[in-house]
Amino acid sequence: MSQPALDSLSDKFPHLEERLEVRQAVRKMCAKFDAAYWDRSDLDHIFPEEFFQAFAAAEFLGSLIPEEYGGGGGTTADMVAILEEVAASGGGLNACSSVHTTLLCVPSILAFGTEEQRRDILPRIAAGELYVTFGVTEPDAGTDTTKITTRAELQGDTYIVNGAKVWNTGAQRGDQVLLLVRMSTPAADERRGLGLTLMLVDLDAAGVDIRPIPKIGRNSVASCEVFFHDVEVEPSRVVGEVGQGFYHLLHSLNSERLFVAAETIGLGRAALAAAARYGIERVVFGRAIGTNQAVQHPLARTYLDLLAAAEVLGRAVAQYEARGPRAAGTLANAAKYLCSEAACAATDAAMQVFGGYSFAREYPVGRLWIESRLPRVAPVNNQMILNHIAEQTLGLPRSY
Ligand SMILES: Cc1cc2nc3c(=O)[nH]c(=O)nc-3n(C[C@H](O)[C@H](O)[C@H](O)COP(=O)(O)OP(=O)(O)OC[C@H]3O[C@@H](n4cnc5c(N)ncnc54)[C@H](O)[C@@H]3O)c2cc1C
Repeated sequence: MSQPALDSLSDKFPHLEERLEVRQAVRKMCAKFDAAYWDRSDLDHIFPEEFFQAFAAAEFLGSLIPEEYGGGGGTTADMVAILEEVAASGGGLNACSSVHTTLLCVPSILAFGTEEQRRDILPRIAAGELYVTFGVTEPDAGTDTTKITTRAELQGDTYIVNGAKVWNTGAQRGDQVLLLVRMSTPAADERRGLGLTLMLVDLDAAGVDIRPIPKIGRNSVASCEVFFHDVEVEPSRVVGEVGQGFYHLLHSLNSERLFVAAETIGLGRAALAAAARYGIERVVFGRAIGTNQAVQHPLARTYLDLLAAAEVLGRAVAQYEARGPRAAGTLANAAKYLCSEAACAATDAAMQVFGGYSFAREYPVGRLWIESRLPRVAPVNNQMILNHIAEQTLGLPRSY
């Protein structure tokens, strides 16, 4: 029986021939962080500081940030390739979340921030010196973002923020949060997204209380409840136009979808490679279990699903770069949907191949399986993507 390539199937997908140099550089860096490192970080809920610093030192963190703001001046395609390789290294979403979280604010700050904000924030993000989290979701406003109630009111020269966010990833490790707050309520005949504003808030400010949410997985980076009680924020911290924050945010969402899609392809590759290897190693009834078609076919189907999803992702990235962040909505959504579903199928198929050992922490497959479930619901659930396709592509009535 011939041996498949086992290092995350790194030569088995056509898209991996693109940006080969950067992919190889990421693989080399990630090789220093093995499965035991990620298992410990996940099990003990320890932020992977060494990995984060190595990622910054290798200038991957600043890849997307223009050179004039201290970054590498790379493209979204570069970042997508970097994140896919990080996930495929076995670091999975634990590794990816530790680095991508602080990058989510970058498109909004670049597009809508003041020059002073750009010069203050972006070089420090690129260097790994400033960690900015993304504070949108609230206990009663997840999918329906326009229902958020965290408020900022101008009292004298200062905004006073009150409210609560939930699932704020990285808040414990973070320095600032890019916070979506309500400043006014739109009239019945106005657009639902009006009245919301983005602002940068220090996470160590008086009145901010951070409480990690116990999670079933992806524990290297805590996701937290964050409470704001009379928190003072200077008007200079507002990003973009007051009342337009929801629309500014839309500017960041497509790149986030592309990042997450790439991460799930990497996750799927890691699971598939591990399952293929185990299929050769594990002998039952006197022969390798991978000799059975019942073991082979789910893995082969998984490979095809990942192959197809990765090609759609490539198209989405190309369209994003050619036409800008807002124009690539349908393909970015399609990529996030297809990649996350393919990754879920891949980790599930891998679990079956590992049999009882799928539950042993000795193997990373269980960790990847739990992680693969997350991108189907966050940052946006796949039902909302279908709603969007039904409405925007098929012309059906808006359902939400
Ligand atoms: C680990 C983790 C990290 C996260 N990190 C962040 C972060 O850093 N910052 C942040 O702001 N948020 C974060 N989130 C929040 C995430 O974006 C939300 O969980 C997500 O948007 C869904 O919101 P919800 O959980 O309130 O689900 P709900 O809005 O309660 O929806 C529940 C389910 O109902 C279904 N549903 C809802 N509405 C419709 C509809 N109209 N049509 C069809 N189906 C529908 C969907 O299946 C959906 O999954 C994170 C979440 C998790 C789990």
